[in-house]
Amino acid sequence: MIPEFDHPTFHLAVAQFDQAADAMNLHHDLRERLKIPQRALTVSLPIRMDDDTVKVFMGYRVQHDSARGPSKGGIRYHPNVNLGEVAALAMWMTWKTALAGVPFGGAKGGVTVAPNTLSHKELERLTRRYAAEIFPLLGPDKDIPATDIGTNQQVMAWIMDTYSQQVGYAVPGAVTGKPLSIGGSLGREEATGRGVFDVTLEALRHLGIPLEKTTVAVQGFGNVGSHTARIMGEAGARVIAVSDLSGGLHNPQGLNIQEILRLRQSGEPLLDMKLGDQITNEELLTLECTVLIPAAVSEQITIKNAADLRCRILTEAANGPTTLEADAILADHGIFTIPDILANSGGVIVSYFEWVQDIQRFFWKESDIQQRLHKIICSAFHRTLAFATEKKIPMRTAALMSGIDQVAQAHTVRGLYP
Ligand code: GLU
Repeated sequence: MIPEFDHPTFHLAVAQFDQAADAMNLHHDLRERLKIPQRALTVSLPIRMDDDTVKVFMGYRVQHDSARGPSKGGIRYHPNVNLGEVAALAMWMTWKTALAGVPFGGAKGGVTVAPNTLSHKELERLTRRYAAEIFPLLGPDKDIPATDIGTNQQVMAWIMDTYSQQVGYAVPGAVTGKPLSIGGSLGREEATGRGVFDVTLEALRHLGIPLEKTTVAVQGFGNVGSHTARIMGEAGARVIAVSDLSGGLHNPQGLNIQEILRLRQSGEPLLDMKLGDQITNEELLTLECTVLIPAAVSEQITIKNAADLRCRILTEAANGPTTLEADAILADHGIFTIPDILANSGGVIVSYFEWVQDIQRFFWKESDIQQRLHKIICSAFHRTLAFATEKKIPMRTAALMSGIDQVAQAHTVRGLYP
């Protein structure tokens, strides 16, 4: 293991890759190339705080692969961000874009910071300095950031502006997940959640479970978790539990997601809402439900709790929520897993739509976006399911093999420079 990337999340990404590479007999040379990111940049970010002191934050951008097109991936602001985690997330982006068939490679960025401890102005200064430091890597034909945990449309707008200021003209296609007023796309904010819903519905159909009889527990109530819970509820499933960092709410009769969203808007903490019983994040994961949706951070389902899961379907809205040891236990228990690189690909698929619209300067209707997303993600789901069934392999291995194969083909025809 290269010491720079030595971190449990990167170990997980590489172990998953190795498993798939073994199953597909991937050539040794490609295996070596694909395991290590193409480019990794570490930057220090000295920021003038509101009290006039200077504080230095660490930032990263990792481009795992760009054989199939510009590298693509979000930017995470979280206190646990480090180079190894960013490298793992970048690798997953490479397989994700390839599996979906969108013409991007994989990248990820991050800053080690708890964004809610910064003022609006501090956050802007941090974002602009980060964008300026990684500027040499960026560009609509090179590497295109987007939102991830801890970042939002406003952060993307600052990155778009900082990039545009450097080149001297507006470049909307440099970033996705932007506000509509500067070239954002309709449907981008809810895209990951909508994709999670689309593939979960296909899995329910495959298993013969009607949506009206489906109960859902969602871990994480950020952008992905909240839209997922809302769309699931609107479609007729019973969302029985949701949680955020502080803990969760459980109501076997079903939670009123609209009400939770409304109360949250007015600043009420999830745990103070009297809409269900209070539970911990750990308890949420082992609730009896049809569909369990981890939509927070990585390594939540581990050897410690995997045997206690009581769901029929696990839809991985988060990146890397399940460890390798847990995977084997879930398979033994017959839990149908929709792996992260498939389940949460709706975000990057609509990012692709946003980038295409920006480049063409021609914008689509929301219904077109939803339909095109549905078509691409459902086709990836059914290809993966057919492959997994035919080869008698887990869904994750099937998804990884398809993604890796696309990238391997690109490398093989392009050859090795020099
Ligand atoms: N951060 C999201 C992900 O993990 C979206 C990336 C993008 O749209 O580029 O897939």
